[in-house]
Amino acid sequence: MSTVYLIGAGPGDPGLLTVRAKELIETCDVVVYDYLANKEFLKYARKDAEIIYVGKKGGDHTLPQDQINQLIIDKAKAGKSVARLKGGDPYVFGRGGEEAEELVEAGIAFEVVPGVTAGVAAPAYAGIPVTHRDHTTSVCFITGHEDPTKEESGHNWEVYGKSNSTLVFYMGVKNLPMIAGNLMKNGRDKNTPVALVRWGTRCNQQSMVSTLENVAAEAEKRKFAAPSIIIVGGVCSLADKLSWFEKKPLLGKGVVVTRAREQASDLADVLKNMGACVFEFPTITVEPLDDYEEVEKAILTLGGVDWLIFTSVNGVKHFWNQLAEIGLDTRAIGGISVAAIGPATADELKARGITPDFIPPKYVAEEVVAGLLERGIAGKNVLIPRAKVAREVLPEELAKAGANVRILPVYETKLTQQDPAEIVEALEKGKIQAVTFTSSSTVENFFTLLSPDTLKKYPDVKIACIGPVTAKTLARFGFTPNIQPEDYTIPGLAEALGKGL
Ligand code: SAH
Repeated sequence: MSTVYLIGAGPGDPGLLTVRAKELIETCDVVVYDYLANKEFLKYARKDAEIIYVGKKGGDHTLPQDQINQLIIDKAKAGKSVARLKGGDPYVFGRGGEEAEELVEAGIAFEVVPGVTAGVAAPAYAGIPVTHRDHTTSVCFITGHEDPTKEESGHNWEVYGKSNSTLVFYMGVKNLPMIAGNLMKNGRDKNTPVALVRWGTRCNQQSMVSTLENVAAEAEKRKFAAPSIIIVGGVCSLADKLSWFEKKPLLGKGVVVTRAREQASDLADVLKNMGACVFEFPTITVEPLDDYEEVEKAILTLGGVDWLIFTSVNGVKHFWNQLAEIGLDTRAIGGISVAAIGPATADELKARGITPDFIPPKYVAEEVVAGLLERGIAGKNVLIPRAKVAREVLPEELAKAGANVRILPVYETKLTQQDPAEIVEALEKGKIQAVTFTSSSTVENFFTLLSPDTLKKYPDVKIACIGPVTAKTLARFGFTPNIQPEDYTIPGLAEALGKGL
């Protein structure tokens, strides 16, 4: 029989999952998760893992607790290892204790992986340290929603009222008037600062600071709902000074990333770091060619080549894959000059021990040609490993300038079959503030999957585009970019979004 792991999945920011938790999600046979555990972690699960959602959203339990327990026990008895993911920490108002007891009774081995609990993390992301020497010597974690079947309240309001402890309430928003009332009745000053943090640590985090006297009315006015953490105590007065997460330039802004999944992560990661809620909608997949005979031949005759020009990260990757495939490595291009069309491509080359001889100051074909001419490319043999279908400007201009150009397709891009339903729904709900386009093919493919007229229904949604060539393609579909960087790079685009949204 195998082990059940009761795992804390943290409060929502994917970076707050523990290393141990990730390891277990990657290896377990079954992953059981609920409403508050970030779905993003399921991508770590094995392809053949069984993934079970058991719900749990204040009251509308998809599966009642006893059935969740039984399910886990059944899976373990069937010899499966089970990763039971819970929001925050499994033993802090997560009913992990009850699940563990059941496991002991059923004679099933279990382990606990503590997680970052919302009651510490959400305040921290809102600028509130739950303890601080100037304000308090203790912190209490309290449920704001007692077991409804209990006859008498387990809360000792008198103690909470008299102490100067920071009080952190989970599941308490609905009962906020009762909580604030009881604290004031039992001696806490009506001016005591109180903070609410909703969806803490996530891109849609919201927080507010008020006082015991006013918090209930204000929270209602501002429509604060679950899941929120309520913090009571002097430490809340630090929120303004110590705020950091909510200062991120794109916090709460929904941005669609249409780049290929193989390349999307760089843009998506930068945007997430800036606080954005990223909707990944890759319109392109990068795929190897069916046949590499031509590439192989070209590699075996590299002796006659003077310049190799790489126009994309994928060009570098697939070229090197083929070198390896025929038992060669970086040394095969020993005497050849190398150009990279942009900084990301240059980095990919540097990772393979090649420092490019030329990186153009601006990342469009025209600038590359000018720079290469200065380096005496006229009359030279030039090889361009790149996508099967791509812009012809660079090879044509180089040929016009007298270079002997050969294009070598090393990969191809294809339109993904994606259902735009999630994007349309998010547009409808006003959750999307910008759509990003990083190449002409992202534009063409995006509008194949979602009609231009659909997007035009939302004129407030900004169109962000990497450079003038992509802008021209957008114009064909009737769009003018609202956001376009001076520097035609991914970091440039992210920065422009930060300023323009
Ligand atoms: N085991 C979890 C708590 C589960 S109880 C933990 O350790 O964090 C559910 C309550 O946790 C919610 O009602 C809310 O009060 C709080 N909560 C969970 N995630 C939250 C988040 N990201 N932001 C604010 N509150 C959160």
